[in-house]
Amino acid sequence: MVNTKYDYLIVGAGLFGAASAYLLTKQGKRCLVVDKRNHIGGNVYTEQVQGINVHQYGAHIFHTNNKKVWDFVNQFAEFNRYTNSPIANYHGKLYNLPFNMNTFYQMWGVKTPVEAKERLNEERATIREMFRREGITEPRNLEEQALQLVGRSIYEALIKGYTEKQWGRKCTELPAFIIKRLPVRFTFDNNYFNDRYQGIPVGGYTAMIEKMLINCDIRLEVDYMLHRELDALAANVVYTGEIDRYFDYRFGHLEYRTVSFETELLKGVENYQGNAVVNYTDAETPYTRVIEHKHFEFGQQPDTVISREYSKEWQPGDEPYYPVNDERNSMLYQKYKTLADQQSHVIFGGRLAEYKYYDMDKVIERALEQFAPFV
Ligand SMILES: Cc1cc2nc3c(=O)[nH]c(=O)nc-3n(C[C@H](O)[C@H](O)[C@H](O)COP(=O)(O)OP(=O)(O)OC[C@H]3O[C@@H](n4cnc5c(N)ncnc54)[C@H](O)[C@@H]3O)c2cc1C
Repeated sequence: MVNTKYDYLIVGAGLFGAASAYLLTKQGKRCLVVDKRNHIGGNVYTEQVQGINVHQYGAHIFHTNNKKVWDFVNQFAEFNRYTNSPIANYHGKLYNLPFNMNTFYQMWGVKTPVEAKERLNEERATIREMFRREGITEPRNLEEQALQLVGRSIYEALIKGYTEKQWGRKCTELPAFIIKRLPVRFTFDNNYFNDRYQGIPVGGYTAMIEKMLINCDIRLEVDYMLHRELDALAANVVYTGEIDRYFDYRFGHLEYRTVSFETELLKGVENYQGNAVVNYTDAETPYTRVIEHKHFEFGQQPDTVISREYSKEWQPGDEPYYPVNDERNSMLYQKYKTLADQQSHVIFGGRLAEYKYYDMDKVIERALEQFAPFV
């Protein structure tokens, strides 16, 4: 074998690249990590503004049921007790999410689980009756699916406008399968996630990623696809960029949905909205959510930073956020995957290389599966 300077070239300093780099360096492998951005961390990157860790690529809340993953990340950061409990703002009225006894009280004034179930069942019965009159046997679109699951009041106030903004299409034009279930809880519990472990790394995600990369060489603002000579430096490659780009889009572009963020420092405003996440569920407000970053870490700073989040149609060149797992894109991905499987010295991992929406814990799980056997 040719003697190379590094054992692994890792393309991408996001969570997958960083966790892989840590696991590999731990068992003595020499790693070079490159990223085309001017910072490490990929989409979990946080930047300090007036002492507040701003989640530059959208709100990131770590949650998992996997103790191995939780123990793994806790080596690199102390996690706080943050619990995601978003608020919905519908035409100025506030509701707790996910749908629970607080939401039902705010919506209908019901105070006990029995009253809430009765009210929800009445709403569902009205929908069943409407379906019967109109000869609908199975929900034909997202609207009918949501109506069947939670009835009209919740659908109209908390689902319709938000979903239409997210997808840029009417709920009646979206397929029913997008919403498989709409969990409802008959307890006064606003915790969005059901996972056993949850929190935010104290000091931000960037500091956590820095620790994972401690024993690697790092080069930023280096686009691997424009610098293929880097291949000569390492025997193996871990590639975490877009899979279609790796193969020069030879079968065409994979599609994504994207979001854009309008971030603002509000000087002298100590507390803008009293919660980290407020969803705007009406159709008229152009943004989907407002994030107030300081609340992720219970900040006491005199100023605050907020980000308004807009859902956008993706065009080639835009930041790829959410893969569109429809038939066309899934088939296209399979074609690229077949090629990827033939690259014996390259490991394709993470959300872009596997064209898969991965929560952070799943990214870590994937890196552990791939590299923990070596450790
Ligand atoms: C808006 C939003 C909110 C989210 N919120 C949550 C949440 O609350 N909880 C949760 O668990 N998960 C959340 N996620 C998911 C989370 O962001 C991902 O799990 C995680 O970022 C994936 O890490 P990754 O390393 O696979 O990809 P990335 O973070 O995208 O890292 C890939 C890196 O590769 C680099 N790269 C790509 N191509 C090249 C190239 N040619 N040369 C050099 N470098 C390259 C990129 O610049 C990037 O830094 C959210 C995702 C989004 C989009």
